[in-house]
Amino acid sequence: MAVMKFGGTSVGTARAMQQAIDLVVREKKNGTPLVVLSACSGITNKLVRLADSAGLGSLDDALALAREVRLHHAGLIDELVKSPELKEQLFARVEEYVARLEMLARGIDIVGELTERSRDSICSFGELLSTTVFAAVIREQGHDAEWVDVRKVMITDDNHGFARPIGEICRERTDSVIRPLLEAGTIVITQGYIGATLQGRTTTLGRGGSDLSAALFGAWLDDNAIQIWTDVDGVMTCDPRLVPEARSIRIMTFSEAAELAYLGAKVLHPDTIAPAVEKNIPVWVLNTWHPDAKGTLITNDPERLSGMSYGGLVKSIAVKKGQCIINVRSNRMLGRYGFMGELFGAFSRHGVSIEMISSSEVSISVTVDDKSFSDELLQELGALGQVDIEHRVATVSVVGDNLRLSKGVAGRIFSSLRDVNLRMISQGASEINVGFVVEEKDVETAVNALHHEFFSGEETAGIFEKPAGNP
Ligand code: ADP
Ligand code: ASP
Ligand code: MG
Repeated sequence: MAVMKFGGTSVGTARAMQQAIDLVVREKKNGTPLVVLSACSGITNKLVRLADSAGLGSLDDALALAREVRLHHAGLIDELVKSPELKEQLFARVEEYVARLEMLARGIDIVGELTERSRDSICSFGELLSTTVFAAVIREQGHDAEWVDVRKVMITDDNHGFARPIGEICRERTDSVIRPLLEAGTIVITQGYIGATLQGRTTTLGRGGSDLSAALFGAWLDDNAIQIWTDVDGVMTCDPRLVPEARSIRIMTFSEAAELAYLGAKVLHPDTIAPAVEKNIPVWVLNTWHPDAKGTLITNDPERLSGMSYGGLVKSIAVKKGQCIINVRSNRMLGRYGFMGELFGAFSRHGVSIEMISSSEVSISVTVDDKSFSDELLQELGALGQVDIEHRVATVSVVGDNLRLSKGVAGRIFSSLRDVNLRMISQGASEINVGFVVEEKDVETAVNALHHEFFSGEETAGIFEKPAGNP
């Protein structure tokens, strides 16, 4: 059995949804799949804006967004559903959801406050709607399929916006709600990204969280594959939007994939890998539009990795934009202890996560998300030393197994970047990444130069391939 997760672009239009349905039906020959869906592309962004507008008292904007959500799904139904009766039923279901959405918006507007709890409720409608349409259409096309409200199964803590599942309960619920359906040959269609607390309050796992939902279900069901279907040909040597020549990576280790995701490659949610590692389940990243292309296999299976991963190969380049550098300079650092403790304590008290660190005897530089820190944090840091901030920078990381052990990689990285102003450099003892910071305006030059250095030769053909569909 496999878990098949389809991202927003793979269900966002009638053509995409039909393609995804065909892939699910094809997979059924290998065992009945569990299908985990995202919201249609763009819908979660609209819902986030809807919640913000309601919270800011712009009810008209919020209601206009709700209308857009209604129209999008009505359009999908109109194109995909044949029977007029079913069409009417589905229009009514969409109407019910959107009416609830509008009610929530009005409630928030009246109270004048948007809580994280109501934001999660609003954001959950994207997945509820996409799965409702998908399940109805696949059934109309003659397949045994059932829609399951994941909030009965994905039971989480109440950390709204970043909820995490309570493993034991979820596993039991997966066994009692989902497994029997699959064993009876019924395809299960459910939502990624959302869950609920034990008290039944809707939660979300964080943006991009459908990948994580799918991986968790893969582990709870002990599946033999987790398939992440998306709009690119697997995990690539760099974001193809930044580097048009990016190639598809045939195979990578769990740790490479996890590192790459944490360092900014949006193709996988960073927490996707842990559940797969726990049960040693291969993760496939596949292209909905080129289903027979090889995509990427993420595994620790030494036989499959043999000749494909080891040897200090650079596998990929990850970029995280929207960062800033905070530099704290103080003579108090020299030969004393405790300074770092105080400094990191301040970040921790203000809930700000540090991405990259570099230090000298008298200064320490860190990168953080540009939107994540407050004036209070800066004041606290100011008491420790002189603080300078540089906005609009990006972290760029070169990732690959055994990088540390392979000679000459750092030299190749930095000589290819001779025309770029490096704002910070960080190489930890980690053997799999080297990171640095550049101004956002230099990102494209930097990653294209690096990409050319590591991926333009023929020696790695077979590991890195031209993506399907590219000439
Ligand atoms: P989905 O909606 O299917 O979850 P996402 O938009 O979350 O899709 O992720 C796919 C996108 O990730 C791609 O369209 C691509 O632009 C971006 N991306 C960033 N880094 C990489 C990478 N290394 N390999 C492939 N895609 C990447
Ligand atoms: N729909 C959610 C988002 O856009 C979750 C996901 O797509 O993974 O973030
Ligand atoms: Mg995604």
